Amino acid sequence: MPYNFLETSIEYLKGVGPVRAELLKKELNIFTFHDLIGFYPFRYIDRSKFYKVNEVNEVNEDLSYVQIKGKITGVHTIGSQRAIRLIAYLTDDTGQIELVWFKGIKWIKDKFKPDEEYIVFGKPTIFNKKFNIAHPEIEVVSEQINILGETLQPFYSSTEKLKSKGLDSKGIEKIMKNLILLSKEKIPEILSDEIIQNLKLISREEALINIHFPKDKEILQRSQSRLKFDELFFIQLNLINLKYIRIQKYKGHKFSVVGDYLNNFFYNNLPFELTTAQKKVIKEIRADIGSGKQMNRLLQGDVGSGKTLVALMTILIALDNKYQACLMAPTEILANQHYESITKMLKGLSININILTGSTKTSQRKIIHEQLFNGDLQILIGTHALIEETVKYKNLGLVIIDEQHRFGVAQRARLWKKNIIPPHILVMTATPIPRTLAMTLYGDLDFSIIDELPPGRKPVKTVHYYDSNRLRVLGFIKTQIKNGRQIYIVYPLINESETLDLKDLMDGYESIVREFPSPEYAISIVHGQMNTADKDFEMERFVKGETQIMVATTVIEVGIDIPNASIMVIENAERFGLSQLHQLRGRVGRGAEQSYCILMTNYKLTTEARKRIETMVKTSDGFEIADVDLKLRGPGDLQGTQQSGIIDLKIADLIKDEKILKYARNLAIKILEDDSKLKKEINIRIADHLKFINRNKSDWGLIS
Ligand code: ADP
Ligand code: MG
Repeated sequence: MPYNFLETSIEYLKGVGPVRAELLKKELNIFTFHDLIGFYPFRYIDRSKFYKVNEVNEVNEDLSYVQIKGKITGVHTIGSQRAIRLIAYLTDDTGQIELVWFKGIKWIKDKFKPDEEYIVFGKPTIFNKKFNIAHPEIEVVSEQINILGETLQPFYSSTEKLKSKGLDSKGIEKIMKNLILLSKEKIPEILSDEIIQNLKLISREEALINIHFPKDKEILQRSQSRLKFDELFFIQLNLINLKYIRIQKYKGHKFSVVGDYLNNFFYNNLPFELTTAQKKVIKEIRADIGSGKQMNRLLQGDVGSGKTLVALMTILIALDNKYQACLMAPTEILANQHYESITKMLKGLSININILTGSTKTSQRKIIHEQLFNGDLQILIGTHALIEETVKYKNLGLVIIDEQHRFGVAQRARLWKKNIIPPHILVMTATPIPRTLAMTLYGDLDFSIIDELPPGRKPVKTVHYYDSNRLRVLGFIKTQIKNGRQIYIVYPLINESETLDLKDLMDGYESIVREFPSPEYAISIVHGQMNTADKDFEMERFVKGETQIMVATTVIEVGIDIPNASIMVIENAERFGLSQLHQLRGRVGRGAEQSYCILMTNYKLTTEARKRIETMVKTSDGFEIADVDLKLRGPGDLQGTQQSGIIDLKIADLIKDEKILKYARNLAIKILEDDSKLKKEINIRIADHLKFINRNKSDWGLIS
């Protein structure tokens, strides 16, 4: 088995042993040779270039690392006891630079020999207007061995605990070198010769050796390309494989007819024309649900693009085919709103529809359960409550999941058990996901995109004010209220301390009350620690127009639709992430009036916060915002990605490597189309490696 070597436990590597092995497991998840060799450096330093001392002194920019050859001409200590420092002078033919140690002095002090030539490597910093290098690495020129012929030195990230056991970057480099020396001809190739030739890739082994100890920049770059390709290719292969397994294993309900429910709705109840984008998406969905295969589709559309209507029409097709459908929302507020607006839209169509949430009364719940089970109830709207184990449907054909960024593969898989043949699934989101990320995070789904807003919407005007301009903002709000508009004022939730957050909110609320006194003004307040009844009561007042201002935390972020509310003031906007800001702004701009989004911030902003605010002011294009967000935060931080686990990229970058990703995905599709079980001789290496990387993934089993 070609993987035996790679599966060797890490403690058997020269220089590791049981203690370090334990730490490597705990701190870096490194258990085997395979894990270690896949622990790539985060950067490299060119060790072929030497600086002269005077070059260091002349450079004022922050030179990062330098390497200097010279002799040590004098060593002495300064200070006493606690604040003791060791100073050594490194001298070459152009001058002298100080080397400084604060720790390990005893050990270093007597190490230097006067005639020996040393290579000193470190980062110069300015101290007392002079450059010095603190805690440099030092090698003796005559002893320098460069067994692998590398000129670029790898740098590895480490942790405090690892460092305490000698596994800082240098220490990791040492054990890595031991591993690489052992690895020759032991690393299996994982792609077919054909792919390697077509893409002009270097071998897997060469790439793994040179990613750690590159001979030069060119081979490093080729190693990176090779390993990025491998990484993205196998992720895509896994996802697409998953989809194939699903298609082979599960049939889907065939919604073959469009009947009275949809037709009556369409001709009698639809209050407006569908947008072209809505039509296109409904067509895609119809083709999918009519095919006899199970639909698993992600519907993306910016806030206000009219996804609910698409959902409703899909639901009606399910009903026309004698199936039940459910629509799941992330919060009770949103579930209620969906229930109300959908009930209104279905007026006169005699459809049995109900709502189930955490606060549904037991007696009511019992009736719902019964009617679901005997099939009387056709549409159920609700929160997570509606997919609980105890909720049994007679014939569930369609599940729609609204605004659930955290609804990953595993949760979706649970839904499939709700009927003998799994229901069709439509996941809807207004949090735009950059395509590259979507391909990875939701790579097993099909995509539909609504890229158009209903006509007549005026773009929201977004402005940025510092707190010092508050009076102007308040004045503006007053004029708007006089003109009959309603206002949201949102405070951030910082999570650190709920009581503190609440205090911020309450302080804000009080100052707003002072500024907008009753009876002239009425103010609602909604936050996460209120009980549902109170929340709903306050929401209702605002919806009905009884209050002009809604002070809230981000609980109003998702989905709420109140067309007359045309101003969104976001306090401490610097504390919000971009997608959250975009979501919040999406709450306004839903009516005929000009809407505004006012971002209030501190005067002091971090570069990142400034970029976020600038982006918001500059664009309202959700996809552009998503891209900036991805660039600012990296994919690991994006909503929903952490727990997906599949996005834990070691070397590829979803932004920079978009081309590789697309190529890898297409190739994976092509290969599986041709050989869905990967049984052909040409795919044998791919099949072996796929098996190897999935050896511990029981969670995928849920689906397959
Ligand atoms: P989202 O995609 O954010 O969920 P909604 O479905 O809540 O958006 O729709 C936002 C608003 O746009 C709703 O008031 C809805 O009735 C309205 N709407 C949806 N489709 C159209 C359309 N084709 N023309 C006009 N208004 C529409
Ligand atoms: Mg919505």
